[in-house]
Amino acid sequence: MGKKYVYLFKEGNGSMRELLGGKGANLAEMTNLGMPVPRGFTITTEACTQYYEDGEKISDEIQAEIMHYVAELENMTGKKFGDLENPLLVSVRSGARASMPGMMDTILNLGLNDTVVEAFAKKTGNPRFAYDSYRRFIQMYSDVVMEVGKAYFEKLIDEMKEKKGVKLDTELDADDLKELAEQFKAEYKKEVGADFPTDPVDQMMGAVKAVFRSWNNPRAIYYRRMNDIPSSWGTAVNVQEMVFGNMGDTSGTGVAFSRNPATGEKKLYGEFLMNAQGEDVVAGVRTPQTIDQLKEQNPAVYDEFYKIVYTLEKHYRDMQDMEFTIEEGKLFMLQTRNGKRTAAAALQIACDLVDEGMITEKEAVSMIDPKQLDALLHPQFDPTALKAAKPVGSALPASPGAACGQVVFTAEDATEWATKKGAKVILVRLETSPEDIEGMHYSQGILTVRGGMTSHAAVVARGMGTCCVSGCGEIKIDEARKVFTLGGKEFHEGDFISLDGSTGNIYGEAIKTVEASISGNFDRLMKWADEYRTLKVRTNADTPKDAAQAMKFGAQGIGLCRTEHMFFDSERIAAMREMIVSKNVEQRKTALAKLLPMQRSDFEGIYEAMQGYPVTIRFLDPPLHEFLPQDEEDIAALAKEMKMEVGDLKAVISSLHEFNPMMGHRGCRLAVTYPEIAEMQTTAVIQAALNVQKKHPEWDLVPEIMIPLVGEVKELAYVKNVVVETADKIIAEAGSDMKYMVGTMIEIPRAALTADEIAKEAEFFSFGTNDLTQMTFGFSRDDAGNFLDAYYEKKIYENDPFARLDQIGVGKLVEMAVELGKRTRPDIKLGICGEHGGDPSSVEFCHNVGLNYVSCSPYRVPIARLAAAQAAIKAK
Ligand code: ADP
Ligand code: MG
Ligand code: MG
Repeated sequence: MGKKYVYLFKEGNGSMRELLGGKGANLAEMTNLGMPVPRGFTITTEACTQYYEDGEKISDEIQAEIMHYVAELENMTGKKFGDLENPLLVSVRSGARASMPGMMDTILNLGLNDTVVEAFAKKTGNPRFAYDSYRRFIQMYSDVVMEVGKAYFEKLIDEMKEKKGVKLDTELDADDLKELAEQFKAEYKKEVGADFPTDPVDQMMGAVKAVFRSWNNPRAIYYRRMNDIPSSWGTAVNVQEMVFGNMGDTSGTGVAFSRNPATGEKKLYGEFLMNAQGEDVVAGVRTPQTIDQLKEQNPAVYDEFYKIVYTLEKHYRDMQDMEFTIEEGKLFMLQTRNGKRTAAAALQIACDLVDEGMITEKEAVSMIDPKQLDALLHPQFDPTALKAAKPVGSALPASPGAACGQVVFTAEDATEWATKKGAKVILVRLETSPEDIEGMHYSQGILTVRGGMTSHAAVVARGMGTCCVSGCGEIKIDEARKVFTLGGKEFHEGDFISLDGSTGNIYGEAIKTVEASISGNFDRLMKWADEYRTLKVRTNADTPKDAAQAMKFGAQGIGLCRTEHMFFDSERIAAMREMIVSKNVEQRKTALAKLLPMQRSDFEGIYEAMQGYPVTIRFLDPPLHEFLPQDEEDIAALAKEMKMEVGDLKAVISSLHEFNPMMGHRGCRLAVTYPEIAEMQTTAVIQAALNVQKKHPEWDLVPEIMIPLVGEVKELAYVKNVVVETADKIIAEAGSDMKYMVGTMIEIPRAALTADEIAKEAEFFSFGTNDLTQMTFGFSRDDAGNFLDAYYEKKIYENDPFARLDQIGVGKLVEMAVELGKRTRPDIKLGICGEHGGDPSSVEFCHNVGLNYVSCSPYRVPIARLAAAQAAIKAK
């Protein structure tokens, strides 16, 4: 016997996510709990990977196994595919290991054809319902198979409604729907070049294939990249007996959360629509009713549902997101999963579950997605500015946050404006669809005319932590002309508006925002996290302001203080340029003497802000030409200022020109050629530390001086010697016994390879994984964006190695350097200061290879703290 590729729901269970996908595993679990789940089976994710291995074909073996289970399902239900007495109709539903809402496709009412639908109409005595189901089936099947999007079919429906002079889809009668079915089939034939399949088995195999294929549709690929889901997982397919929410007024369909996904409040929360099917609720075809109204309309069903909801919540020990259908007064459960929620709700729920005794503090720490915290760390509206502003309208507060930006009308424009113009945009749409995901990602906020709290826009925005206000029916929008009106005002592309995702208010102006802070549930959870964390979290900060912000977010030091940014200030750049164009050491020393007091006071500010926590200061790193002007006018002005001939200045500038500045005269190479720069910087660091130490005897300052871009131990030894001679002299003259450390960045592969040698001189290593990635891959991070998309498409790389540490290649160098460094100097201090320091999966890697700290931008400090705690919990 080969591998088993198909499982009945009753053969599976909740722990089989990898094989059955999340949806399949939970359908199995609910079945085993005795809940009313329509019967069915799951085709495994392994069948999907096999399909791709076999060149996008379902093998005979797997087809035979599927047919065996179709027969089982027919036996269990007493219904048969294509039968005119009692036809079996099924849904074919995708479901990957990690939930990817709306990213892949589902087909309902499969098994209908021209003859079955008639029999079905007779059997149910409800031709309208039969033809409604039929047109839906053709519509979904065509959409999934042809991958053309639903727009065309919706247009046909709108035309039909217009022709009949009705507003709602429920007002179309059996004949109208029958005619629509014909139109849909004609469209299918036109596009596909073949008749719409009539044999239910052909329909099903086509649908299964289409679901497998949808694993690789562009929006699914993009979603995976955003959420670190490997493409190798594949999706499972669930084939399930249909139940019907569109049978009339005692039928309906809905979605519900066991707690409020926006705020976390413990209260059943949901929406439903009577006489509707599938995604009608989320697609916003009609305005849904709230779950409380179900209580009034059908208390028996409500009570049954309520009991199931909290049984499930207790069972999974987490907030549940469920789909249900009522068929002629009988309740069926169609899905449950741990619900997506906003960051604020995630914290509220985690704290409540701990207080309710349902989970431990440790579990609470593990259940929060660190990346989600990002949403809480961004600015909120300034309370006074918000009070002063008058809303032009309001709608549903679908996803909280403060958004202020320029109006755009398409997802493509959102991406374009944000990436090309660096604009902050708010996407305003009639409704969003899964194709819009990339543009939504680039938007500060999303405003939709249609759709409820569980609409696509709302669900996706909450998942992304993006502010969203949905269902603003007062808006009159003309997407083609790129204009909308609200509150008597007209808004065009590029106009500024603000959205308050917590109240649903819409403002026709830009509203000032203020910094976020950590308090309440957030603070409580971070304290729990800190108990489990062993990795320290430092910050990358170049100014006292950034340092102070990072301290508020819990930073335990500065891992990277760049010293060059300070020189771009208009008052300072002159002295810097003077230093650069100096013709000899004397001139250079004079210029450096002007820079010294400025640099010293910068460092004093930073030491003050860090309140005794360690600070790693990196010496001058960029190529010098970055400080000089490039165009004629600026050059002439500078020459005048420096009292130089324009020609001489030009000669200096052209002598600094490099073909490959990233690998040019920069980093410690500057200190090797101009040791006086290192001398000045050492003086500034040590004097600043001595001054601050004197003011704060309670602190124990140990300056950490970091030499960048070292590739050879001798160059480090040379620069270190300059540092030591300078520092020792100053400390001795001050009569102090201050200690200091000299270390290096590991950012050139040669440094990693010779780390045992380097460690003879370096007292600490800090992995500069931006440059290390750049030099290991051999592509520049400023240029890689141009071709990486092609690499993602061809699945050569799945992630941007500058955002997520390449653990296989770059990680191997890091591991090697850690091991070699420790061999020479067992107590060597190890950290990381590249962008990766704030990326959760990279933080986990740093924990596992035994670094002492990660350092990241101030806004990612809380994310790194939580990720470090999770890594420690996981490693145990
Ligand atoms: P998604 O992953 O996009 O949520 P689903 O597979 O859950 O897709 O299906 C989409 C919709 O179809 C859901 O609203 C679900 O409730 C409905 N649906 C799926 N299977 C059935 C079924 N067997 N009977 C009735 N409705 C179904
Ligand atoms: Mg769907
Ligand atoms: Mg679903």
